[in-house]
Amino acid sequence: MDRTAILHAVDALFDRELEFLTELVRQPSTRGAEQSAQDFVERELSGLGFEVDRWQIDVKEIANMPGFSPVIGNYENAVNVVGSLRSRTSSGRSLILNGHIDVVPTGPLDMWDRAPFDPHIDGDWMYGRGAGDMKAGLTSNLFAIDALKHLGLRPAADVFFQSVVEEECTGNGALACLHRGYRADAALIPEPFAEKLVSSQVGVIWFQVRLKGLPTHVAYAGSGANAIEAAIPLFEALHRLERRMNAPECRHHDYVGHSHALNLNIGKIEGGDWASSVPAWCVFDVRMGVFPGQRLDEVRHMIEETIFDAARNHPFLAENGPEVVYNGFAAEGYSFKDDKSAAARAALAALDRAHSLVVGKPLEHEAITATTDARFFGLYADTPALVYGPRAEAIHGFNERVDLDSVRRVTQSTALFIADWCGLEEV
Ligand SMILES: [Zn+2]
Repeated sequence: MDRTAILHAVDALFDRELEFLTELVRQPSTRGAEQSAQDFVERELSGLGFEVDRWQIDVKEIANMPGFSPVIGNYENAVNVVGSLRSRTSSGRSLILNGHIDVVPTGPLDMWDRAPFDPHIDGDWMYGRGAGDMKAGLTSNLFAIDALKHLGLRPAADVFFQSVVEEECTGNGALACLHRGYRADAALIPEPFAEKLVSSQVGVIWFQVRLKGLPTHVAYAGSGANAIEAAIPLFEALHRLERRMNAPECRHHDYVGHSHALNLNIGKIEGGDWASSVPAWCVFDVRMGVFPGQRLDEVRHMIEETIFDAARNHPFLAENGPEVVYNGFAAEGYSFKDDKSAAARAALAALDRAHSLVVGKPLEHEAITATTDARFFGLYADTPALVYGPRAEAIHGFNERVDLDSVRRVTQSTALFIADWCGLEEV
């Protein structure tokens, strides 16, 4: 294997790679609107000689699988795209190159310096919603294969390129790929964690709390019950639970040095109908982290106990208990570090060799405080999942951006990793 030739092939294609990334970021693929981005990916895969499989997720098919998360809204537009590149010799180890096409909402547009879906490059950075999380990673997966193709080479084992939906709210896109039968000896997910290997990731639970009040005219507020204000003591109780869950004795071993790995976020709130009416209702949405190995049903139990205990001390809620509804993420934590299998060690060693050659330093590891689709491969398909991607800033924030030099290096590392892990054959 001529490693230098592979690095040069990535360099030679890099302008083309940036054009592709720009066009991909231009597709506003928020939840339910991923189709145009999937069309674009599909065309590119066909052009590269992948056999393309595109399907709409059927909730009934995956609802009983481990790792399934309750669905929010309908799945009419929830379409996955997978490209398969079949090897002639199948002499190497197979690989899944996974990335998510969905991006989170932009938030208020006037907080952005430029329109979020009008990507632009300034110096070493590309700006735009999804540029970092994770369209740059999807792109590096594709151009790593393209670089090999320009050398007249391709992987000597089957490679499956997955562009999935739903990573940002359930993970059901990746789960649907498992249901459809896609399996390989390892998976690589270039989420934007600054060219470090994600050694562990937390799990995430989403839930919604629904409160009732008693509406009256504000003139007689004393005889009513304010559902919005009733939420405040519940927020405080939930944050007390968060502090308990982060206590040193509760931490997973990969997070011992992390004082606050599990974050609870009140992410959304609605309630009331009129400024002069005591609000009769309030609904708020919460995200809570959990450690790898922690059972979700136990965490749900703690959450409910916390909310119902706090409600018992409230004059109105004591008699009109809150309702807790689980919607979206029911994601367990996952620790790649805890996977002691020979396949996991070999995959890590191959990535370390590729990274070290490109960057000139050994691969660093990081336990992250977010989740990724890696859990599906690692926990439910016995497939070591390497999360390793470019450096990005302000993901989920304003003026999201990705470091383009980092994208180039990750593409090079990915191409070398594929060559090492899968082996190569002539096209
Ligand atoms: Zn992501």
